[in-house]
Amino acid sequence: MKYFMSDKPAIGVAGAGFSGAVIAHQLAEQGHPVSVFDARSHVAGNCHTERDAESGVMAHVYGPHIFHTDDERVWRFVNRFGSFEPYVNRVKAITGGRVFSLPINLLTINQFFGKTFNPHEAAGFIASLGDNRIENPRSFEEQALRFVGRELYEAFFKSYTIKQWGVPPSALPASILKRLPVRFNYDDNYFAHRHQGMPREGYTAIVARLLDHPRITVHLGRAFHRSEAGNYGHVFHSGPIDGWFDHAEGRLGYRTLDFEPIRGEGDFQGCAVMNYCDDSVPWTRISEHKHFAPWEPRDKTLCFREFSRECSPEDTPYYPIRLVAEKAQLARYVDRARHEWGVTFVGRLGTYRYLDMDVTIREALETADAFLESRRSGAPMPAFVNDPLA
Ligand code: UDP
Repeated sequence: MKYFMSDKPAIGVAGAGFSGAVIAHQLAEQGHPVSVFDARSHVAGNCHTERDAESGVMAHVYGPHIFHTDDERVWRFVNRFGSFEPYVNRVKAITGGRVFSLPINLLTINQFFGKTFNPHEAAGFIASLGDNRIENPRSFEEQALRFVGRELYEAFFKSYTIKQWGVPPSALPASILKRLPVRFNYDDNYFAHRHQGMPREGYTAIVARLLDHPRITVHLGRAFHRSEAGNYGHVFHSGPIDGWFDHAEGRLGYRTLDFEPIRGEGDFQGCAVMNYCDDSVPWTRISEHKHFAPWEPRDKTLCFREFSRECSPEDTPYYPIRLVAEKAQLARYVDRARHEWGVTFVGRLGTYRYLDMDVTIREALETADAFLESRRSGAPMPAFVNDPLA
């Protein structure tokens, strides 16, 4: 037994993001000593927030993260570890030299087409633009053409998506576009969930509080390697699944992001997120981080231009690409994982899925529940509680 006197086996957790921290916390509460490892010098993974010394702005270091959920258990859970301020994400988008409201709503439709439609008229009009020959949209492009038609697709989605994903929208799954609603009223809330907010002290404070437990030891600047798994009663791996197997089946495709800071006085763009949908602009969006914290006004400002590109071995992975080729490769990793002893793969990187924070937390809670139940019943703990291939 490592580190603590306990009748429970020591648990190893690779990665101190939401997945790893939630699992560590839940298992520590039930008496397990837990060692958490992260290769970076901070906790919270890509949700990491840090106060910028020059402007005083709370910066989302790895890009904007807005917490939103319909899941009551998750909402109650995160509120135990930090207080959330009301925040509603209202995104603007520039296309063809004009500014519009996103997600596509009645204001977007009326301004784009120069109309004064009411909700019923707008719904009929957009339906008339949709391509009804596409019965079962499978790709991002088909989904857009079917439900909003070519003009809106080309204005708002086509070039942005090529910049973001590096492939034509015809090669991407429809599920990516399904993240965004289309509304026939003036509701410009980017998210359709009951709860939405920003942690008053940032995400890192929440993750640090999750990990602040007498039975948890955190090792930062220290990657966890598969060869160490035998030291633990069980391991939860929230790093890239291909990294666990030393990329034996090749590297899975990810997109990474580069951020170019813009500093200044006052208000740079008047909103938190401005998307740039034209291909003539190389960045996808500019985020102005003080607008994520409207309860703490600042004179100075800090913005980031965001650029997306293919992730190389030295880069931080952000978005799993999951095209057909990657899915076949993923299936081979999943097969290896199912033959691995004593490891469960979790989170966005461990299961190679495009997960939001709330889903990540819900799955981590369920994973901890499943582990505790497996220890009670004696049933083996599976490699995945959430199937990466589903
Ligand atoms: N998207 C787009 N134009 C926009 C905003 C989004 O084409 O102005 C597409 C793009 O492919 C993106 C997807 O919709 O990857 C999902 O958008 P979301 O805002 O959920 O992306 P995230 O904030 O997770 O990067």
